[in-house]
Amino acid sequence: RNLNKNFYSKKKLFSKPIPPVKAVMDVSLEVKKGETLSIVGESGCGKTTLGRCIVRGIKADSGQVLYQVNEHEQVDFLKVNKQDYKRLRKDIQMIFQDPYSSLDPRMTVFDIIREPLKANFKLSKKEIEEKVRHIAQLVGLNVNYLRRYPHAFSGGQRQRIGIARALVTRPDIVVCDEAVSALDVSIQAQIINLLKDLQQELGITYIFIAHDLSVVEHISDRVAVMYLGNMIEIANTDDLFFSPKHPYTEALLSAVPKADPSQKMKRIILEGEVPSPINLPSGCLFHPRCRYCQDVCRQEIPKLREIGKEHQVACHFADALDLKGV
Ligand code: SF4
Repeated sequence: RNLNKNFYSKKKLFSKPIPPVKAVMDVSLEVKKGETLSIVGESGCGKTTLGRCIVRGIKADSGQVLYQVNEHEQVDFLKVNKQDYKRLRKDIQMIFQDPYSSLDPRMTVFDIIREPLKANFKLSKKEIEEKVRHIAQLVGLNVNYLRRYPHAFSGGQRQRIGIARALVTRPDIVVCDEAVSALDVSIQAQIINLLKDLQQELGITYIFIAHDLSVVEHISDRVAVMYLGNMIEIANTDDLFFSPKHPYTEALLSAVPKADPSQKMKRIILEGEVPSPINLPSGCLFHPRCRYCQDVCRQEIPKLREIGKEHQVACHFADALDLKGV
């Protein structure tokens, strides 16, 4: 609820302090149990920062991350004390983008997967061994190779190790930060199918951060679109892909490659560059690049509002525009 994160610089420009980078601005969204909610947007839009604020990997400046632990207990994940944080941290895990740098090259695969268990549970050696072997099998790793080091594995296998590490504590929520972006397309498909299978088997909720809309369409129940640190559209996957209501979403969708050339939608080339996050435009942040821009857009910030069943959009003309989906 209302999450904000700014990054400050100690440097000065012409002896004046540099304004903060507004990475996440008043973002509110809800993730339902067992669903996959994707967060999309171009590089630098704040989606990774948002994901890291959710798992408390970086500290949000303000706002809340409300987590419904069970029927009776709801906590603000950003405000819990150290003890509760430790208790809850095992429920919210993260899978990172780069399967090469996110694994410690000096640790064996067994030790990498074991680490969250050691940090969060008091288990015997035998119990740990069983859990590590079980999760390794579940993600398709050969249990005979667990004493090897990460460099002996391919990119896809390493990402499976990262997934096993994230899932070994049986979390409720997993934030996947560009979890398949660094992989070849065929390996991407394997990992996505694996994530979906594990979701069905273990009932996990995914927050899937990505920029590849073909992948997002395949894996998501709902999609949230970010632009310059703001949430500009949230909808069910079909609604968003077939009936987008924000001009930026329409432009993003026009760039998705189509398998059938006869269905090719005309690519919308956005004018200009993304504005600097330290010098944001007035009114609607998208107005300098929007082909539907009117005077009001330059003056008034559009609020994220409900315009259909579970469909929210931040555009003054969302009801009037006839935008094209895929
Ligand atoms: Fe474009 Fe105006 Fe809508 Fe912003 S509010 S997306 S500028 S039409």
